[in-house]
Amino acid sequence: MHVVIVGAGVMGATTAFFLQQRGCVVTVLDQQSGPAEGASHANGGFFSAGLSAPWSAPGAVGMAFKSQFDKSAAFKWKPDFTLRQVTWMLKSLKECRPERFAGNRARLTRMCIYALECLRAVEAAVEIDYERSNDGVLQLYREPVPAALVDGHLKYLETMGVPGTFLSAAQVFAMEPALARSAPGLFGALHLPGDLSGDCAVFTRKLVDAIQRKGGRFLWSTPVERVVVDESGASAGRVMAIACRGGTVIHADAYVFATGAETPRVLKGIVDVPLYPIKGYSMTAPLQDMENAPRHSMFDFATKTGMARLGNEIRVSGIAEVVGYDARLDRARCDQLSAAFEAAFPNAANRRAATFWTGLRPATPDGVPLVSRTRLGNLFINTGHGGSGWSMSCGSGKLMADIVIDGKTDIDANDYALPGVKSPHR
Ligand SMILES: Cc1cc2nc3c(=O)[nH]c(=O)nc-3n(C[C@H](O)[C@H](O)[C@H](O)COP(=O)(O)OP(=O)(O)OC[C@H]3O[C@@H](n4cnc5c(N)ncnc54)[C@H](O)[C@@H]3O)c2cc1C
Repeated sequence: MHVVIVGAGVMGATTAFFLQQRGCVVTVLDQQSGPAEGASHANGGFFSAGLSAPWSAPGAVGMAFKSQFDKSAAFKWKPDFTLRQVTWMLKSLKECRPERFAGNRARLTRMCIYALECLRAVEAAVEIDYERSNDGVLQLYREPVPAALVDGHLKYLETMGVPGTFLSAAQVFAMEPALARSAPGLFGALHLPGDLSGDCAVFTRKLVDAIQRKGGRFLWSTPVERVVVDESGASAGRVMAIACRGGTVIHADAYVFATGAETPRVLKGIVDVPLYPIKGYSMTAPLQDMENAPRHSMFDFATKTGMARLGNEIRVSGIAEVVGYDARLDRARCDQLSAAFEAAFPNAANRRAATFWTGLRPATPDGVPLVSRTRLGNLFINTGHGGSGWSMSCGSGKLMADIVIDGKTDIDANDYALPGVKSPHR
């Protein structure tokens, strides 16, 4: 079976890997000149089931409203009154209801757990060094949090099979001595020992190399412009080919679109993909003072900022802006990330050598990815992973490959299907 995968971000690469592992011939196309140049390029680095949760959650509406009056708030919404944005916001609002959130969170956590298992399968097959941490991750609480909230979260994680414990400030300081100097007011932290961090782009590039070594074909600087569908002929209801800029036309048995936030635009008029881009920022800086640098990767709950150790560098990430497809860097936002790290770990990083980046998270209203068949028999999508795509990548890639090949999946494919599209087998 020959499968074309459009998109060489982490989702396209993991899909190609698992398809190839099950005997398919793969061709991967990307409009960029190499792998991981979209949202997978410089993301926060957390591969974490414990930190991942849908953003459409109870309380999110109040937080979003308050943030409109605070320029430095992590969340920003610039209304553009387009049908796409309004529809997405209204659908997201519906998903904030407690019962909707509970179901969405469980589907998302299940995918993250499966992804960890599938990551181990990738690591067993291919030797990949991607600055992986092995000490778990921390979620820091600066302010006191109600015991019921912490207990409720820990109970949820336990039910799902995700190990986690709450640490007092003294216990956190023992693990992270530098924090004791900068954040004496810390309340405590959630420690997730089974979760990890690592460089998603390095992982993706090395996985692409491994697929290529086994005969996988990659076409760079090849934007797909048109999906050619047979609506009424002998192969009605199927994709016949895809046409790329420059005149290249590619035929295959099946086509997977792992085109991230671009997916609704690429498949416009063919499949309605309910997702919207959520812009985020990151800073990557070399560490210069190891004594004062963080040893663990951690997420600061108060500022909603991630700080991941990637070898001798620090990746600081955060901010969620609903501003359409505008990927320009705003200097004030870059300074905000830089200042958040400096406050926590003064002088630990060489901020003059920092690089900044923005990426568009492909976000669905319910926060659950779409790893799915479509109305067309040989067209599939693997997208909509929002702010947790690295954490779900290997699970989504494996699930997608199984759906494409024979529908025999390890987890319930219907949990990640497009509305109205059922997965026939299990
Ligand atoms: C600031 C930030 C921090 C984040 N932090 C984390 C984190 O800590 N942990 C986590 O789990 N997730 C995180 N994420 C989310 C994660 O990065 C994304 O969910 C994930 O990278 C999405 O991967 P993807 O392959 O679907 O999309 P992308 O990486 O965007 O890949 C899509 C690819 O499709 C290609 N493409 C698009 N259209 C076409 C076309 N017409 N023709 C050919 N090619 C096309 C693009 O060039 C691109 O290479 C973060 C995201 C951001 C922005």
